[in-house]
Amino acid sequence: MQCDLLTLFPDMVKSAVSYSIVGRAQAKGLVTIRVHNIREFSEDRHRVADDTSYGGGAGMVLKAEPIFRAIDALGQERSCLRIIVPSPQGVTFTQRLARDLSHESRRLVWICGHYEGIDERVKSRLEPEEVSIGDYVLTGGELSALVMIDAAARLVAGVVGDPASVEQDSFSVPLLDFPHYTKPHTVRGYPVPAVLLSGNHAAVRRWRRKEALRNTYCKRPDLLREASLTREDLELLSDISQEVNKEHRCVRGEDFNHESASTA
Ligand code: SAM
Repeated sequence: MQCDLLTLFPDMVKSAVSYSIVGRAQAKGLVTIRVHNIREFSEDRHRVADDTSYGGGAGMVLKAEPIFRAIDALGQERSCLRIIVPSPQGVTFTQRLARDLSHESRRLVWICGHYEGIDERVKSRLEPEEVSIGDYVLTGGELSALVMIDAAARLVAGVVGDPASVEQDSFSVPLLDFPHYTKPHTVRGYPVPAVLLSGNHAAVRRWRRKEALRNTYCKRPDLLREASLTREDLELLSDISQEVNKEHRCVRGEDFNHESASTA
């Protein structure tokens, strides 16, 4: 996965991608992240890359020309680049899009807006994909680009040591993940579920499947409508619905009717 990030704040990004799994993925050569300071492409001797908005009003706008020059400096045909502009107006970023980016053979380029955003002519000329990380407004596109890079990089083959841990993650199936516990087995009086200490692999697998279904039923029942459910899953969901209704533990699962659901 080859990433280029155009930003006014390169240090903010460089530091974030140097740690943990994404940092190690770069060290192994599985992911390349190049960070470019848009100011260095300004023709202005003070390296100014933003200006006031035509028509007036508060807030600065990133100038188009330094961005065009930064893109030209990548030395690639437009067809060899997949350009993304983080924007609250874009399509919503999902696990599906993260997977798509992780398989991308073109160079991935993020143009990070700041302040009021970027001159609209960048979008007219480069025709990038506009992608939002949610219905809220951030101060700049750097955090959004980092979210997308992080989510996509961990799906690149070899980045996460055990591929099974990526496959069982929330949204991959699509079901939410089951709960995880680590040592010691009792913390402040709270023991780990006994089945996880039993050494019975079949029982552990069934418990994890049931708890993944329970999490999804209680927190995101809408996902169950898209999931490929087996006969065993529907039996587990029937048990879960009785258990949670008895305990009054969740209300959202009422949106999903396991009796009318069909198996995979
Ligand atoms: N005036 C813009 C609007 O209302 O559409 C918002 C600009 S915002 C203050 C500055 C920059 O932050 C945007 O250009 C974009 O790069 C980034 N940004 C803000 N919210 C975002 C979101 N939800 N998803 C992705 N990027 C976002």
